[in-house]
Amino acid sequence: MHGLIQEDNGEEHVRLSTELEHAAALEPRQVRIQIMAAGVCGSDLSCVHGKYYMPTPLVPGHEAAGVVIEVGSAVTYCTLGDHVVLSTFGNCGHCPVCEGGSPGNCGFGGLRYTHVEGEQQLWGFANLGAFAQETIVHENQAVPIPNEVPLSSAALIGCGVMTGAGAVFNRARVGVGDTCAVIGAGGVGLNVIQAASLSGASQIVVVDRVASKERMALEFGATDFVLVDSESFDSVAAVQELSGGGVDHAFEVVGSTELLANCLPMTKAGGNICAVGVPDLTATVTYPFQALHQNKNLLGIRAGGGKPRRDFRLIADLYLKGRFKLDELVSQTAGLDGLQGAFDSLKAGAEARTVLLPNG
Ligand SMILES: [Zn+2]
Ligand SMILES: [Zn+2]
Repeated sequence: MHGLIQEDNGEEHVRLSTELEHAAALEPRQVRIQIMAAGVCGSDLSCVHGKYYMPTPLVPGHEAAGVVIEVGSAVTYCTLGDHVVLSTFGNCGHCPVCEGGSPGNCGFGGLRYTHVEGEQQLWGFANLGAFAQETIVHENQAVPIPNEVPLSSAALIGCGVMTGAGAVFNRARVGVGDTCAVIGAGGVGLNVIQAASLSGASQIVVVDRVASKERMALEFGATDFVLVDSESFDSVAAVQELSGGGVDHAFEVVGSTELLANCLPMTKAGGNICAVGVPDLTATVTYPFQALHQNKNLLGIRAGGGKPRRDFRLIADLYLKGRFKLDELVSQTAGLDGLQGAFDSLKAGAEARTVLLPNG
């Protein structure tokens, strides 16, 4: 099969292979997936740049949807032909943490080889290795959705949508009348905006450095757009002024430690500071003590604190009822050879998402 291999850290070390194979035969609780769509997320860029300290060589890609084309003998979560969104949680499904309802906190997931090229074993990013024509995953990681959801849009549910919407629904728990600031209106930020809007937020102030993002931000439910047009621009003062002294929830979606620190004084007493974006995993965040002191909550958020088997279906159902935008998040589609172009778009910060179609 065709697939991408990241030989080492750096964009120049990613190449297309036509000779990938699965790393092992299907186990009883595994399913084989034909990957129909895989989004290119900021985390793919971070992974390729080595900011997540993943072992190489690996097959990148982690935000995907596809069709179940083979099921193991003990699989009960999905059946042949199901359309599924893939989850990045390689969780076990039966430890106390999983049974307690926090699959993202399971300590038994680990990383594994998903593919091989000849004798060379290849790690799978997020236990998926989604930038390939097929992958084999545990049934926990394949969540069925209705066939009516286009797979190129559904792919985004697995990461970008869940990371943004889950931060609002599962972690911040934005309530009716709450005020929000969203720093960064990219593929994840737009989902923070629409989830906050759906939750009944009375004000959603969006801060971004790209003027062309204003239209999409407003379309997704933003009430105010603040353009950061210079290095010296004071976005904290701008949010404080627009919100009358600070918001209930400030979401940092870019993955910048400096912007995360800025979110503390943007919130009012008792507010939530939500660390949605992921910087280099070894980065240090510093902030003035007093900025957090007034009963504020600094929330670490991994992948929207999601419960994939519940939340993915919820998002798909909201989409089918016309209450949640997915199609609008897809800026363009490309083949597996379109990864570099997608990275360039991400770096320019101009578009929501490129979705790769590994099977054309
Ligand atoms: Zn577990
Ligand atoms: Zn992602």
